[in-house]
Amino acid sequence: MIMLDESVDTIVIGGGVVGLSIAYGLAREGERVRVLDEGDSAFRAARGNFGLVWVQGKGAGMPTYARWSMAAAYGWPAMAEDLSALTGIDLQLSQTGGLHICLSDDEVNARIDILSRIAGSVGNDYRFEILDHRATKTLCPAIGREVVGASYMPTDGHVNPLRLLRSLAAAVTALKADIRPDQHVDSIQYSDSAFEITANGRKHFAPKVVLAAGLGNKRLAPFVQLEAPVEPVRGQVLISERVAPFLEIPTASVRQTGDGGVQIGDSKEEVGLDDGTTVEELSRMADRAVRSFPALADVNLVRTWGALRVMTKDGYPIYEESRDCPGAFLVTCHSGITLAPLHAGPIAQWIRGGQRPADAHVFRGTRFHV
Ligand SMILES: Cc1cc2nc3c(=O)[nH]c(=O)nc-3n(C[C@H](O)[C@H](O)[C@H](O)COP(=O)(O)OP(=O)(O)OC[C@H]3O[C@@H](n4cnc5c(N)ncnc54)[C@H](O)[C@@H]3O)c2cc1C
Repeated sequence: MIMLDESVDTIVIGGGVVGLSIAYGLAREGERVRVLDEGDSAFRAARGNFGLVWVQGKGAGMPTYARWSMAAAYGWPAMAEDLSALTGIDLQLSQTGGLHICLSDDEVNARIDILSRIAGSVGNDYRFEILDHRATKTLCPAIGREVVGASYMPTDGHVNPLRLLRSLAAAVTALKADIRPDQHVDSIQYSDSAFEITANGRKHFAPKVVLAAGLGNKRLAPFVQLEAPVEPVRGQVLISERVAPFLEIPTASVRQTGDGGVQIGDSKEEVGLDDGTTVEELSRMADRAVRSFPALADVNLVRTWGALRVMTKDGYPIYEESRDCPGAFLVTCHSGITLAPLHAGPIAQWIRGGQRPADAHVFRGTRFHV
């Protein structure tokens, strides 16, 4: 029999953006939460991502995911305000809309095709525009002559992902939750409605556990009779020196951060657990960025990195509670920045004991059993 630790309601495994968003949502509602996070030795998408709060293009083939992403984007201003009030950290959230730049007619046609299909399945709320060169230039004067046009969605935007992570950690701590860094969870045992979680040889006990360990979920899920079929997809990123503001609206592959640096990156590579960088891919991204924004040709690059996305086979999230070990939840997704308000909101409410959000029904892990 597992003896419960009376001071903890829920243990969250993983202190990335997904785990911390959930911990924040739970702690805000008065749950006593402990977060166990492996730290820098693990792969951590939350530390290497692009920071977009992005709706356009998401959910082709699954309208519920498009609606889920829209709900998240609408939830962002309130969450950013709450977090800033609690922690004093400005998340540099900006939702001035987002552009997907096209360098050929084929690219424009592909945008029309995908966005029209999503709009057709979602309904009138899904507002987007296809802009020609002139309209794109009006919105974004920095584009070059090679830009044929762009798709634009008013709900899109970006945030500083590292500030988000810091702010979530500070908020969770301010709400009296307990974050334990450098804790690699080795095993989870379930018996009589209680979980025994072993990390670095020490045992932790709770009636509920949330698996939010990103790629680490794949190994942890079977301990609670769940499956987490997630695979790494690498993204490479370039960062420039700080430059004067020139890009008010973020694009899908180039954005200017609140600090002035330009972040470039849109690679998606299936290379296993390799988070390195390659000259070929970095050159391709830099070339496209300069064709889109010629002024970047004179800007120095100061940093590059690779990071691993946490991808399911269909690219959509998994929100699942274990049938055999009730109280064990699995949460994983590939757009943890965009979806943070929903993980802190309805997903945390569900984990507290509320209803599973109606939309989240289609994100059950059992869909992969077909
Ligand atoms: C290049 C790139 C660009 C991206 N751009 C965007 C974007 O613009 N917008 C967007 O919404 N999303 C973006 N993403 C995706 C986003 O970063 C991820 O969805 C998000 O970080 C996933 O968060 P997570 O907490 O599930 O996983 P992670 O951030 O990987 O965190 C997992 C955590 O679990 C911990 N852990 C793992 N195993 C264990 C264990 N056994 N015990 C204890 N702890 C463990 C790790 O230490 C880590 O802290 C991007 C990702 C990449 C790689």
